[in-house]
Amino acid sequence: MITTEARPFWQRKSLAEMTESEWESLCDGCGKCCYRKFISGRGRRERLYYTRIACDLLNLETGKCGDYCNRFKLIDDCTKLTQKNLAQFSWLPDTCAYRLLYEGKPLFDWHPLISHNPNSVKLAGVMIKNGIHERDVIDWFEYVID
Ligand code: SF4
Repeated sequence: MITTEARPFWQRKSLAEMTESEWESLCDGCGKCCYRKFISGRGRRERLYYTRIACDLLNLETGKCGDYCNRFKLIDDCTKLTQKNLAQFSWLPDTCAYRLLYEGKPLFDWHPLISHNPNSVKLAGVMIKNGIHERDVIDWFEYVID
């Protein structure tokens, strides 16, 4: 039997109890939150659509921000995900560790905290393929993926 203390931090602590470094390590680096989304319709017809259109700072190959330290200065609507505002981030992809834990679900086996392999996210096919930067897009509707 595994004792409580032997369980990894994301299983024995709530999101609110995590230290800053634990919280940061939950991000698997998929980069999906840096792709544009839009909402269409109203009320019960409201629907969230994901696109292949990436923030201009995103490195499309690695899923990493190209200027992480200055992202809030450079991109008007870049928002920091924190323990306090997580509830407002219902648009996070269903693979995102923050959303999974918030919804009481386990992390996937390919999460680097479990796989101990920084490439496992890419190998699992989780990252968005054929992304394009926002600056190169004319018609957003061509890039809707869901
Ligand atoms: S979607 Fe979640 S796991 Fe992926 S980069 Fe964004 S915060 Fe990190």
